[in-house]
Amino acid sequence: MKIYIDFDDVICETGIAFTVMAKELFGVDVPYNEVQFFNLQKTFGLNDEQYTELMRVGHLPENLLAYEEAPGASEIINKWVDEGHEVSVITGRPFSAYEPSRQWLDNHGLERIPVFCVDKYGRETFNEGCTYSMTLQQLYSMTFDFAVEDSPAAFEHVLHFENCRVAVYDRPWNRLAEFPNERFQRCAGWQDIDRMLHTLK
Ligand SMILES: [Mg+2]
Repeated sequence: MKIYIDFDDVICETGIAFTVMAKELFGVDVPYNEVQFFNLQKTFGLNDEQYTELMRVGHLPENLLAYEEAPGASEIINKWVDEGHEVSVITGRPFSAYEPSRQWLDNHGLERIPVFCVDKYGRETFNEGCTYSMTLQQLYSMTFDFAVEDSPAAFEHVLHFENCRVAVYDRPWNRLAEFPNERFQRCAGWQDIDRMLHTLK
């Protein structure tokens, strides 16, 4: 199977790290479990300048490299590759975050997995000439049989893959989201995602 895997809050614990950074930078104390919105500016009640600063700090290489792995992620992803699945990481991180993102995957035993930066959230334009950056049109022309996402804002993207089943990694900010169709299924974590993949025909 061809498998799409999101990076932040699917392979690593970005949301938790951002709650810590928001507290350190601006004294905003929103516990992880109360992060209701995927939009962090809204979640933390930040002005534009504060939000820009939070995103800048959150994407510093030393911070990107320090994000904790989601429990079981690399073990299960490697198992899928061993089983013959074709796995790609498709992240909405800015293109400037490519190198540390690649490094993070290598550090966590995921050297075999390619990573592509796609502007999923309308934050920047295509970076021409990079082998690792992709436009949304390029993404939509690809086929995937299985996808793992956490963000309701990215559901519209995975809907482009015909008959693709989508594991939605259970996170506080997607608990109130309505799933677009029955191909989307909530999963509690990587063990659950692995079970879902293996129940597909
Ligand atoms: Mg994500």
